[in-house]
Amino acid sequence: MKLLIVESPSKAKTISKYLHGEYTVKASVGHVRDLPKSNKDAIDIEGGFIPNYEITPGKEAVVSELKSLARKADEVILATDPDREGEAIAWHIAELIGGGKERPSRLKMKRVAFHEITERAVNEAMAHPRDIDQNLRKAQEARRVLDRLVGYDLSGLIWKKVRYGLSAGRVQSPALRILCEREREIKAFIPKDFWVISALTNTPAKKELSLAYSEKPEAQDITDDILAKAKKGVWQVSEVKKEKANKKPRAPFTTSTIQQAASSQLGFNPGRTMRAAQKLYENGLITYMRTDSTSISQDALPLILETVTKKFGADYVEQRVFTTKVKNAQEAHEAIRPTNPSTERAGTSDDEKRLYSLIWSRTIASQMKDAIVNKTKVSALVSGTELKEFTAAGSQLLFPGWLKADLSGSDDDVILPDIAEGDILTLISIDSEQKQTMPPPRYTEAGLIKELEKRGIGRPSTYASIIETLLARKYVDKEQKSLKPTDVGEVVSGFLETHFADIISDSFTAEMEDELDEIADGTRDYTKTLKAFYGPFTKLVKEKGKIEKVTSMGDADQSIKCPKCGGPMEIKLSKMGRFLSCKRFPDCDGALTIEGKILEKKEIKETGEMCPECGKGKLVEREGKNGRFIACSRYPKCKFVKVDPNAPKPPTTGVECPVCKKGEVAERRGRFGPFFSCNNYPACKFIMKSRPTGRICELCGSLMMEGTKTIPERCSDKACKNNLPVKKNLKE
Ligand SMILES: [Zn+2]
Ligand SMILES: [Zn+2]
Ligand SMILES: [Zn+2]
Ligand SMILES: [Zn+2]
Repeated sequence: MKLLIVESPSKAKTISKYLHGEYTVKASVGHVRDLPKSNKDAIDIEGGFIPNYEITPGKEAVVSELKSLARKADEVILATDPDREGEAIAWHIAELIGGGKERPSRLKMKRVAFHEITERAVNEAMAHPRDIDQNLRKAQEARRVLDRLVGYDLSGLIWKKVRYGLSAGRVQSPALRILCEREREIKAFIPKDFWVISALTNTPAKKELSLAYSEKPEAQDITDDILAKAKKGVWQVSEVKKEKANKKPRAPFTTSTIQQAASSQLGFNPGRTMRAAQKLYENGLITYMRTDSTSISQDALPLILETVTKKFGADYVEQRVFTTKVKNAQEAHEAIRPTNPSTERAGTSDDEKRLYSLIWSRTIASQMKDAIVNKTKVSALVSGTELKEFTAAGSQLLFPGWLKADLSGSDDDVILPDIAEGDILTLISIDSEQKQTMPPPRYTEAGLIKELEKRGIGRPSTYASIIETLLARKYVDKEQKSLKPTDVGEVVSGFLETHFADIISDSFTAEMEDELDEIADGTRDYTKTLKAFYGPFTKLVKEKGKIEKVTSMGDADQSIKCPKCGGPMEIKLSKMGRFLSCKRFPDCDGALTIEGKILEKKEIKETGEMCPECGKGKLVEREGKNGRFIACSRYPKCKFVKVDPNAPKPPTTGVECPVCKKGEVAERRGRFGPFFSCNNYPACKFIMKSRPTGRICELCGSLMMEGTKTIPERCSDKACKNNLPVKKNLKE
């Protein structure tokens, strides 16, 4: 029996078609082994950064099936995806099924890579199997180990210095920084007024011609002066400039450019684009979708030229070569193109069909003649004035060339009336419109990928996941299509920018990518590279362990006073975002929402009892709308809460929902007993395990909830230290 292993079931299905039953084709369904997420000991740093991989949870069955099949096989072909990630998966599988002592000596394991899954490409690759490229998979290992080490150490530090549960990554952090820098530019932007002046005139042949003033004055009085002068003077055409301009087709798609085009033309985010592209690749319809090459193979080129000739005529054909700065020859595969250029429409789902059509157009257009546009520029002066020119621009498509295949590149014609130098124009009307300069826009997902690529951060295989990680960590929100850092994102980035500026700089991150490329090339040593990075990095992390905990995000506006003591307030960060806290906290617990709404308005009544827990505080009753609780007055130094077994349990706790801020947290009964959730359900899905006490956690700002006898009050956020406080910490 001969066994062929790929990573996806649909790829397995397509390949089987071409192997005529000669191979048993199995899918690993992605990665089978990885480094554990939360255990730094899995990396033997002293021993040379040796990773100790674990079988990915849930993959045990797949691995044992592959193992038992391999035991019966005479030959195993590893046909995972043709890039570093695929090479690494192939190696992991080889290690698991044939590694160590169990390895049957007769077992032959070979690697093949399909840049496209077509009969020709599959047969070609099968005829030239090779060994696993150890350099390539080492480069992937280096990335994995680096990312894990940075993740463990930076996250650990941020937990201590900013807030528990936060995390930071090697490549996500520079991306987050880029978004935060843009956000600061937007906040610091001061809009300026300017005026756009446009005139409508008649030509001698009584045809209308609109012209715009070539300057944009920045004051109303200057504008009025221009309008007054323009109305009085004689308008005369000073110049008519005509020229032919060539418009070249764009290069075939790479991972980055397809993500940008699919975003602007189809409204797909990069993740959606990559999912559709993956399906098209696995079904044999396009070449491999993770690439930074724009070249087209010598096999495909004649087919594309033939398609152009058949569809548009020989006048439209122009063979072109697009060169890229591909650093890694091993991985230098092709641009993303249809495997069969004569097929104009393909794909199963709507997304696949639309994306395929985009790929087809771009590929075909790339081998077509330039479009030729006739451009006209008319300038007019107002005689007897010192006014600058008024101008009009026209354009007219003379020869469509590649635009025939790719309409997305074309603009509408603007046809100007016939006019000659010296012609007198009659002014019909002239108007001004007041406008304001705009701040730079936020990045869209595709725009950020373009920026990352420009700065050399990330690689085709990582672009989409960088953004997905930032969104999943809630460091970034999507507003319409643009990316906006959240309060938490800004705090994390601010912390890293202050303390790890070099590590998260463009140049450092880009250099590291280059070094990983060199490992893949075999020109750089794995251990040396990691050592050179990790030594200085851990030293820095250790140094930063001494800095003060970041608790404040700066002072609140001086006009805002504490609702309890009238003192100044400062901005703090909670799980839900920023809020205002009295600067005298914990001596005063006055707090406001960032909009200035009172966060805790419960009145304090003394019960006359002393706190049984600390013996120093008095027990006070705090009242909500529908509930009350008795607790120590020394909160948060003492967290004692008295549970009154006789108190009726009202359905609503009177505690405002921290998520929607409209509903209240109410008691409900579920399968596993009572739980507490927002009474604004289903509009709001906020839920917590136990009854909220009405207070917020001093560590993270989440709602506190009732606990047990030993731990009377706990934070409702599982990730927070206050969720399971050690008892001795409670007594100061
Ligand atoms: Zn106060
Ligand atoms: Zn107490
Ligand atoms: Zn709610
Ligand atoms: Zn908490």
